[in-house]
Amino acid sequence: MIKRRAVFLDRDGILNAAIVRNGKPHPPSSVAQVEIPAGVADGLIQLRNLGFLLIGVTNQPDVARGTTPRETVDAINGYLKSKLPLDEICVCFHDDADGCSCRKPNPGLILNTAERHEINLAASYMVGDRWKDIEAGRKTGCNTVWVDYGYSEMFKTGLPDYICKSPAEAFQWIISRGLSMNQAVNNLKVKIFADGADKAGMLEMYGKPYIKGLTTNPTLMRKAGIADYRAFANEILAEIKDKPLSFEVFSDDFAEMERQALEIASWGDNVYVKIPITNTKQETCYALVKRLAARKVKLNVTAIMTLSQVRDVVAALDLNVPSYVSVFAGRIADTGRDPMPLMAAAVEILKVAPAAELIWASPRELLNIFQADAIGCQVITVTNDILKKLSLVGYDLDAYSLDTVKMFRDDAVAAAFKL
Ligand SMILES: [Mg+2]
Ligand SMILES: [Zn+2]
Repeated sequence: MIKRRAVFLDRDGILNAAIVRNGKPHPPSSVAQVEIPAGVADGLIQLRNLGFLLIGVTNQPDVARGTTPRETVDAINGYLKSKLPLDEICVCFHDDADGCSCRKPNPGLILNTAERHEINLAASYMVGDRWKDIEAGRKTGCNTVWVDYGYSEMFKTGLPDYICKSPAEAFQWIISRGLSMNQAVNNLKVKIFADGADKAGMLEMYGKPYIKGLTTNPTLMRKAGIADYRAFANEILAEIKDKPLSFEVFSDDFAEMERQALEIASWGDNVYVKIPITNTKQETCYALVKRLAARKVKLNVTAIMTLSQVRDVVAALDLNVPSYVSVFAGRIADTGRDPMPLMAAAVEILKVAPAAELIWASPRELLNIFQADAIGCQVITVTNDILKKLSLVGYDLDAYSLDTVKMFRDDAVAAAFKL
């Protein structure tokens, strides 16, 4: 079984603001005093979506000292759990004299939770605002993050892995590392292209390091309400200069397609001209592809669904001009046929044209990215709704099952169903 990752969270100073008196932090003395710092709820939701378990670990020695009733601690913890996506809050109610193994800087709370949830501690984090939190984390092999509020206490032991000024910053740091740790995505050889036609969405995708190129098509552009093709393209190309970007011709007449293709190609070095495999009269584009390839136009031949089309396109391409051969694997799947064998055969056919790359177009699910990768397909175009699921890659299935049950339950409660 794959072990889960967790973020262990100190309570006072991290999940809720500490009450600081004379430079020393104290817990709130009632639920009414609880204040959740800015960015904590959002950050925790993002961490949960990355598959982290979220575990509160807190020393509450005032219970042993008799100055705070246990009920108060429990009420505050209950309130935090109602506001934040925490899996649990583990508490040490002891004081130093008790000699327990759970009072931080002892690692008992973390070790006990790690055993119960099968947590991979080396891939986990401890976030706290005091040296005791950091030391407890260090003893377990967790990565440690110290939120430094400038309290009047010395840091008594080894330094944390990261120091910042707020819980929100701490969470963002973990999120950025969590993403880069997403090995399954990082190890992909297939290049992910984003398919889109609205400027804001395209620029957002362009900014993501794992998006290696962009494509668009007249159907998407019409849906996005674009009236002036050239103006839209110029606007986009002013911002996107260093990742391949495909624009499609829209004539049905090959001479006019050629004219449009030459203009589109002149818009930039990173521009690929999309040519449909046939016009609406089912006349093939191969002669046009040959003429444009001879003029070194970078092409993206699109709407391909058969291997004979792949063969004929490859025969028409200039072997040294970068081009894409775009096979609509998802549409093939829509007809009840498995696209995998056909796509694998297309990869073989393309081997004679080293500058040409196969695109797995119109994917239907996230799994297609891994299928394309497995057969050596060079590119997959992915829409936003599928890209959103990337954060789920490798997510623990027991946790995902539980999320699903909770979703059903929440919706049933929200609908106030009665039977
Ligand atoms: Mg604290
Ligand atoms: Zn204890």
